[in-house]
Amino acid sequence: MRKPLVAGNWKMNKTVEQARSLVEELLPGLQKVESVERVLCPPFTSLMPVSAMLMGSGIGVGAQDMHWEASGAYTGEISPQMVKELCQYVIIGHSERRTYFGETDESVHKKVLAALAVQLTPIVCVGETLNENKANRTAEVVGRQVVDGLKGIQPELFPRVVIAYEPVWAIGTGLAATSEDAVNVVRNIIRPALAGLYGPDTAQAVRVLYGGSVTSANAAEFFGDEIDGALVGGASLKPGEFVKIVEAAVR
Ligand code: PEP
Repeated sequence: MRKPLVAGNWKMNKTVEQARSLVEELLPGLQKVESVERVLCPPFTSLMPVSAMLMGSGIGVGAQDMHWEASGAYTGEISPQMVKELCQYVIIGHSERRTYFGETDESVHKKVLAALAVQLTPIVCVGETLNENKANRTAEVVGRQVVDGLKGIQPELFPRVVIAYEPVWAIGTGLAATSEDAVNVVRNIIRPALAGLYGPDTAQAVRVLYGGSVTSANAAEFFGDEIDGALVGGASLKPGEFVKIVEAAVR
């Protein structure tokens, strides 16, 4: 059985001091929900203090991005080894990176390979824009993102990958997808694309999350046979909300 996973993407929010306060508020509630894999993804500047605070707590830490190269002249970038010193997870290909910073399926692919090579768990985001959705291009776009972003991985490493289906139009808008639509994309587009790459057993073994305006009020609708948890943005900054979302993921 796939273990549920809920990750909080803090995006570009919280100074170090504010990050420490948020972790203090989250810890008591999060620590009780051991059957769910819980991950906090603060900005780079807070990875060190947050990872120190979470040491031994059972709660994981993730970076929000990284470069694929091991070192070198890449001003402003962070390498997989640097992330690995402080984290167990890394978000890759978030739509905000694709939209504002030129992330492509090709760069996603390089980052996924690099993350797996240093034993990080990549949380790989895929999802269609509103225009693509309206033009009935969801299957084409999401299928391409899965295949081009996740091809050519050693089959024994692949089950460590986590995929987050995040329709771009649902992120930060308060307009979540319906659970039926999200389940449909996971069942009929994402898992078949994975099966084409790695076979049906691996496609069933991989965890797929939903992301896009998840709150404590709608979270439970998404979790079930196909969707194994959530990647949460805005609501992950509200301690009570985030803990309730994690609780809703218990099976
Ligand atoms: C996200 O950042 O991945 C996200 C889904 O954001 P929100 O929950 O705010 O829509």
